[in-house]
Formats: sequence, structure tokens, C-alpha cells
Amino acid sequence: MTAHRSSWMDEDLDAFRDLARTFCEKELTPNVDRWIEQHHVDRELWTKAGEVGLLCLSIPEEYGGGGGTFAHETVLLEEQARAGDSGWGVILHNGIVAHYILNYGSPAQKQAWLPKMASGEWVGAIAMTEPGTGSDLQNVRTKAVRDGDEYVINGAKTFITNGGQADVVIVVAKTDSTKGAEGISLIVVETDRPGFRRGRVLDKIGLRSQDTAELFFDDVRVPATNLLGAEEGQGFIQLMQQLPQERLIIGVSSVLAMELALAETLRYTKDRQAFGRPVFNFQNTKFKLAEVATEAKIARVFLDDCIAKHLKGELDIPTVAMLKWWTSDRAMVAADECLQLHGGYGYMNEYPIARIYTDQRVQKIYGGTNEIMKEIIARSL
Ligand SMILES: Cc1cc2nc3c(=O)[nH]c(=O)nc-3n(C[C@H](O)[C@H](O)[C@H](O)COP(=O)(O)OP(=O)(O)OC[C@H]3O[C@@H](n4cnc5c(N)ncnc54)[C@H](O)[C@@H]3O)c2cc1C
Repeated sequence: MTAHRSSWMDEDLDAFRDLARTFCEKELTPNVDRWIEQHHVDRELWTKAGEVGLLCLSIPEEYGGGGGTFAHETVLLEEQARAGDSGWGVILHNGIVAHYILNYGSPAQKQAWLPKMASGEWVGAIAMTEPGTGSDLQNVRTKAVRDGDEYVINGAKTFITNGGQADVVIVVAKTDSTKGAEGISLIVVETDRPGFRRGRVLDKIGLRSQDTAELFFDDVRVPATNLLGAEEGQGFIQLMQQLPQERLIIGVSSVLAMELALAETLRYTKDRQAFGRPVFNFQNTKFKLAEVATEAKIARVFLDDCIAKHLKGELDIPTVAMLKWWTSDRAMVAADECLQLHGGYGYMNEYPIARIYTDQRVQKIYGGTNEIMKEIIARSL
């Protein structure tokens, strides 16, 4: 079968891939098991990545970024996954948090915050979800009350990626609690402010080296100039505009999970012997892997089309919702089938297929659950 080359790849991205691969093989692979044990990556990883120019890849150079595009972010994500790591929350930092600041920040905010994110001095997070509400974002209870030149923030957030290490958090808060979506604003909180507190790093079934955490805000005061956007009440619209890129990222991770599960299982079943022959030689194995290979290819073609459209600013919300639910769902099926073909070894954490299986499960849940994706699609029909 001919190797697939994504339509959006070019020579510049090939050269960038070499840089990303070298970094990931050197800085990620040898540390993965230790990071799983400690439930977070080393803090120095961020500054090392900043030094070689891997942070804020798709942020303009005038703010310290790489001046690249979403394609660069995708290449880094691919190389991270191929290096066996799922804990470094760089895609959230680069591809999500920095873009809220880029798109809605004032020139002064961008100058103040983005260079710190690009150097790795600051790690970014975004806090939408609360103990009482996730899918129903309009009903967040965290409040930001204006008091002179400041906002006073009170509330609790949970399941926050990069929460354990974040230096800057974009907080989804109600600036007008009498309103639903129109009462929501995004406010930037530096985590060294009094009243900010981290809870425990949460004990998850997958993504075990990621520092997903609870965050608490007790009378945290920030300058009113930390509001993202020119006026209050824009938060929900800003979220709706940025969530498609987050869902595209989940599509990238899900397609990678399918491809990696397939590669791992081909390798394993061609080596493992049962009844005097390689496990691959059983018709059931070949048929299952033929199915996984087919779906992985369909998923890759769909993903490439979405990325190409996104690079031109033409990716619509229902299409990316289709990508998010379908690829995350089919990747979970592929991971399950591939794990089965490993027998008992597939259930052992030291085998990559076990990590692919447990890491993949959350892709159906975060970034908007797959049920919410189907709601979005159905509304457009
Ligand atoms: C590892 C991890 C990392 C995360 N990182 C972040 C982060 O960085 N920042 C952040 O803000 N959040 C983060 N989240 C939170 C994540 O986005 C939410 O868990 C998700 O949006 C679902 O919200 P919930 O957990 O409150 O579930 P609920 O909203 O309570 O949903 C429970 C079930 O009800 C279903 N449901 C809800 N509403 C409907 C409906 N209208 N129609 C049909 N079914 C419905 C859901 O699909 C789901 O199956 C993370 C979560 C995890 C597990």
C-alpha cells in the first residue's frame, strides 16, 4: 500500500517535523514512565521547548511565537504521540489557550502574556468545567464581580488540563449572573494571585502523566483589564468560535490513536506465535486489522480535508463536530479490537496498546461530549 501524505504537508513542514521528532525522541520518550508515576511532566520541559521554538507555533513572531499555522501544531502533536507521550499539554497551551489571547486580547494584553507563553515561562490552561456543570456551559456558577478597577472572582473549576502547572488560566465566569450565555465573560487569571488555590491532581484511568486538576478561586482580585474582549458578555461567543479548533485537535489525536494502534498490533501479531504460526496469520486477525486499516484511512482522509479547510478558514462547526465524534468513537473501537489481538499482554500497562486504549477513552468526553456533537450536527440538518 502506498504511504499516505497529507495534502497540507509541504517542505517547510517536513523540516519542522525533523526538529519536532528530534525533540520528542530526546525529551519525551525516556521520561514517559516517570511522568506517569508522578502524574505530571517536568516543569523544565516547557522552558526547553520554548528554547527550541516549539511553543506558540501558530502565534505571530511579534508576540514571540513561531509564526506558523495549525499545520505546525498538528505536526508537533503527531510527533509527541509517536514518541509515546500523552501527558505534555502542549497542544492545549499552543493551540487553544494562546489563541484565545491572540484573537480576543488587546495589543497590550498580547504583548504582556503571549511572549511568556512562547518562552515557557508561563504554562496556560482554560477553565470552563465546574463540579456542577460541564456540557451546559451557560450555567457556570463562577462569578466575576466588578469592584472599581478590578474583578473579584469566586468559584471552583474541575478537570482542568495543565491545572497542576498552569501560571495563567482563562476562566469562564459570569459577569452577570442574571443572564445565561450573554452573562459569560472570559477573564485571565495569573495563578500567583492571592485567593487562587489548586486542588489535587485527579486520579484518571488514562492520560496518567497529565496534571488534570481542580482549581479554586476565593476572592481572587484581577485588574479589570484582564477581561478578554472589549466588553463583558462576549465569553460564550468566544468559546463557540474557538471550540472548533479544540475539536479538530481531538480529531488529530483520535486518528493518530487509530494509526498507532494498527502499527503496534501489526508488529505484535506478526511476532507472537499461537498454534505454531503468527497470530497475524489467523483469518480473524487479518479481517479485524483490515477493518481497522480501512477506518483509519477513511478517518485520515476526512481529517486531512478538515485541516486543509481550517487552514483556509473554511471549516464549519457541524463538520468539525462530525470529525470529533466519529474519529473519537471509531478510534475507541479500533483500540479495543487491537487490544484484544494482544491477548493478556494488551491489558498490561507496559504495552503501548494499553495506553492507547485508556488514553483514547476521554476523547469521546472532552471538548464537548460526543452526544453534544450530535446535537450540533442535528441542528444543522
Ligand atoms: C481528562 C480531562 C481533561 C479535561 N480538560 C478540561 C479543561 O482543560 N478545561 C475544561 O474546562 N474542561 C476540561 N474537561 C472537562 C470536559 O470538557 C467535561 O468533562 C465535558 O465537557 C463533559 O462535562 P461533564 O463531565 O460535566 O458531563 P455532563 O455535562 O454532566 O454530562 C454527563 C452525560 O450527559 C450527557 N449530556 C449532557 N447534556 C446532554 C444533552 N443536551 N443531550 C444529550 N446528552 C447530554 C453527556 O453527553 C454525558 O454523557 C476535561 C475532562 C477530562 C476528563
